[in-house]
Amino acid sequence: MFYKITLIPGDGIGPEVIEAATRCIEATGVGIEWEEVLAGGNALDKYGDILPKSVLDSVRKNRLALKGPIITPIGTGFRSVNVAIRQALDLYACVRPAKSYPGVKSHYKDIDLVVIRENSEDLYAGIEFEVGKQETRDLIEKIEEFTKKKIRPDSAISIKPISEFASERIIKFAFEYAHKNNRKKVTAVHKANIMKFTDGLFLKTARAVAKQYADRVIFEEAIVDNMAMQLVQKPHNFDVLVLPNLYGDIISDLCAGLIGGLGIAAGANIGDNMAVFEAVHGAAPKYAGLNKVNPTAMILSGCLMLRYLKENEAADRLENAVKAVLAEAKAVTYDLKANRDDPTSVGTSQMADAIIQKVKISL
Ligand code: NAD
Repeated sequence: MFYKITLIPGDGIGPEVIEAATRCIEATGVGIEWEEVLAGGNALDKYGDILPKSVLDSVRKNRLALKGPIITPIGTGFRSVNVAIRQALDLYACVRPAKSYPGVKSHYKDIDLVVIRENSEDLYAGIEFEVGKQETRDLIEKIEEFTKKKIRPDSAISIKPISEFASERIIKFAFEYAHKNNRKKVTAVHKANIMKFTDGLFLKTARAVAKQYADRVIFEEAIVDNMAMQLVQKPHNFDVLVLPNLYGDIISDLCAGLIGGLGIAAGANIGDNMAVFEAVHGAAPKYAGLNKVNPTAMILSGCLMLRYLKENEAADRLENAVKAVLAEAKAVTYDLKANRDDPTSVGTSQMADAIIQKVKISL
C-alpha cells in the first residue's frame, strides 16, 4: 500500500519533532508521500493567513494528516487554530493513550489507559461574550429573565453546549474503541451533580449507550473531581475514559503526567472518515530550533497513525524501537535523563536516529 498524507510541521518545536517522526515512520518501510502544507506562524508570514484554505483542502483530500503544534497569535481571528482544524474537519474524537514505558521517569509503573475526549462542543465551542459589551448586557438580561437568577453586570459569559448527538457519537466511539482494542471498561466522566442539564445529558446518554455494550464492555461513571483524585491514587483501576471536551483536556494532561510528561504523550483527532495525528504537547517556543526536545510524543503519534492505517506490523516495530531506546536511556533527550543537565543527553534528531537504527535491525 502507498499512502498520501498531509504534513503540517507547525510552529516552535513542531518542524523538529515532525522531521524526526517522518524519518522514523519512513524507516518502517511503509510507502508514504507527504503533502506538506503550512499552517500557523509560517503560513501567516508567507500567505498572511494562519490557516490557509489549502490546509483543510489537503486534509479533506488525503483524509489523513500528521501535525505539529501551532501557536495562535492574538488578532488572527482564531481563539485556537488547533481547535479550528478539529472543528472544521469534524474530528470529534480526541484519543490520547497514556502508557508507561520502562526507562521513563514517573511516579507510576505499568499505566495503560486511554483518554477519549469529545472534540467538538462544550466550553471549547468558542461561544463567549466579553465583559462590558452591549450584547453581553443583553444576554445577561435575558438569562435573568429566564432563570430569575442574578448575574453580576461586570461578568463575561461562556456558553457550554452539550448535545445528545455529540455525546452519543463520542460515547459510542469510546465503546467501539474499547471493544475493538480488547479493553475491558469504559468510565464516563462528568459533573452531572452540578451541571444537571449539560453534563446530565452526557451521563444519561452514556448510560443508554452502555446498555448496548453490556455483554462486552463494563461501564462505570465518575464525577470529574473525584476522577482526578482517583487517577492520582489508583490509576491502574482505569482503562478507557470518555469525557466532554474541557474535562478531557485537563484529565489528558493529568494522564500525561502519570506516564512521565508531555514529551511522550501521543494523540489523535479522529472523525468519521478522516484523522489528524498530533502530540499532546504544544509548540514549546523557548526550545524552538535548538534540536533539544523529545520527539517521542510525535513519533508515537505516528505509531497511532500507522495503526489507524492498519499497518500494525510497522506500528509494532516502531513502537518497540521507541520502547528499546527509552529503556536503554542512553540516546535520549535531556528530559528523559535522571539529571536534566546530563551531558550525555542527545538532540531531537539524534534520538530519532537511534530509534531508526532499532527499526532497521528489526526489518
Ligand atoms: P507546551 O506543551 O508547548 O510546553 C510546556 C512545557 O512542556 C515546555 O516548556 C517544555 O518544558 C515541555 N515540553 C513540551 N513539549 C516537550 C517535548 N516534546 N519535549 C520536552 N519537553 C517538552 O505548552 P504551552 O507552553 O502551554 O504552549 C506553548 C504554545 O503551544 C502556545 O502557543 C499554545 O497555544 C500552543 N499549543 C499548541 C497545541 C497544539 O498545537 N495542539 C497544544 C498545546 C499548546
